[in-house]
Amino acid sequence: MLNYTKKDSAERSALVVNPAKTCQPIGAMYAALGIHNCLPHSHGSQGCCSYHRMHLTRHYRDPIMSSTSSFTEGACVFGGKSNLKKGLENIFNIYNPDIVAVNSTCLSETIGDDMGEIIKDTMPSLPEGKIVIHANTPSYTGSHITGFSNMTKAMVTYLANAKAETKNETINVIPGFVEPSDMKEIKRILDLLGVKYIMFPDTSNVVNAPMTGRYQMYPDGGTPVKKIKKSGDSQITLALGEFSSKDGAYELEKKCNVPSKVIKLPIGVKATDNFIMSVLEYTGAEVPKELEIERGQLVDLMVDIHNHYHGKKAAIFGDPDTVIALTEMVISLGMIPVHVLTGTPGKAFDNKVNKILSEAGIENSNVQNAGDLMALHQWIKNSPVDILIGNTYGKYIARAENIPLVRVGFPILDRVGHSYFPTVGYQGAIRLIEKISTAFLDQYDRECAEEDFELVM
Ligand code: SF4
Repeated sequence: MLNYTKKDSAERSALVVNPAKTCQPIGAMYAALGIHNCLPHSHGSQGCCSYHRMHLTRHYRDPIMSSTSSFTEGACVFGGKSNLKKGLENIFNIYNPDIVAVNSTCLSETIGDDMGEIIKDTMPSLPEGKIVIHANTPSYTGSHITGFSNMTKAMVTYLANAKAETKNETINVIPGFVEPSDMKEIKRILDLLGVKYIMFPDTSNVVNAPMTGRYQMYPDGGTPVKKIKKSGDSQITLALGEFSSKDGAYELEKKCNVPSKVIKLPIGVKATDNFIMSVLEYTGAEVPKELEIERGQLVDLMVDIHNHYHGKKAAIFGDPDTVIALTEMVISLGMIPVHVLTGTPGKAFDNKVNKILSEAGIENSNVQNAGDLMALHQWIKNSPVDILIGNTYGKYIARAENIPLVRVGFPILDRVGHSYFPTVGYQGAIRLIEKISTAFLDQYDRECAEEDFELVM
């Protein structure tokens, strides 16, 4: 419990207390699961791989498959080349994926294993037609978001190529580190707009696959390799979220000459409008009635219950792309984000959040990249808020300060539903408003005087 967190903060440069991020390979593994028939492989010790799988399994409540190079003392001293070589041969012989996506760990990075060379050396001994890609994911820099970005970039480096002389009308969408339900919602919007698209990675129907009574090591979802290969012929790449999607889009631009546009995750009415307008800009599609109705319903809801959240102070933390979009969204509801923090390093986070705040005329908010939850707690102690928005780890602060927590982001280990309901798009915004509003009203009902306990709110 965090009841003894002190209000006064000391200058800390080399100590993180209660991190607001997790390690790179987790993001890389999650991205790899978004390729159809792909087995993620962790080049390091069994312990790292177990932790990454466990963390993803707890969040998605589905078994997360991954193999490991299973380093022992010998590999730590002499390098993990033979482990990776033998491991890849075994994986294709026993588990038969179409593709293996290898990520490194702190250990193999510190040893300095050249995974690209090891893979090249191993390919002749693998069954024909099989693919191996890799991403360097040292966890002493960045976060799981960096790992997701690195693996998405690796998909482009290894797989994408430009076959045609002229670009076709397809658009690429890199959805960012979001829930499978969000990826499904982005595809639904694109389908409603009637455009041709290639989205990668796509974990929908992989980490939230249905229970069928029959074990399926590689569920039906995931972007097929042949589609990622074709992404080099598309006319544009929309990268949703600078931190998790930009590098993949820029790589595609560099490698295959596909222009890219980096926009916010479509969380909230403004960012969703921007996403749809960006799609229209390149495709000439028209907004169908169904999306117009959804938008209208969202705006109706925002107006109907604005009194519940107008002027309320919020603390938001989590992954940078999600937090940036959430900051804009809560402002659109009339709330004031007074503390905004991500554990992922990157000055771009501060710049983007500060820009959103200053355009809304909000001053003196605390904004920090590479921050931790102790710093967030101390901010809250010095400047209390009405609501906390972030992942499961916020529950300790919420309990200590008696403020409601709305769970958004990764990881959510103590609630269910996040992998089935979106937070992106107009539908996702409606769900978020319902969650925020319910959190406020539940607390009010618990604590208000008897004469204020109303049936109709
Ligand atoms: S050693 Fe590095 S890669 Fe392994 S679990 Fe720890 S932070 Fe992650």
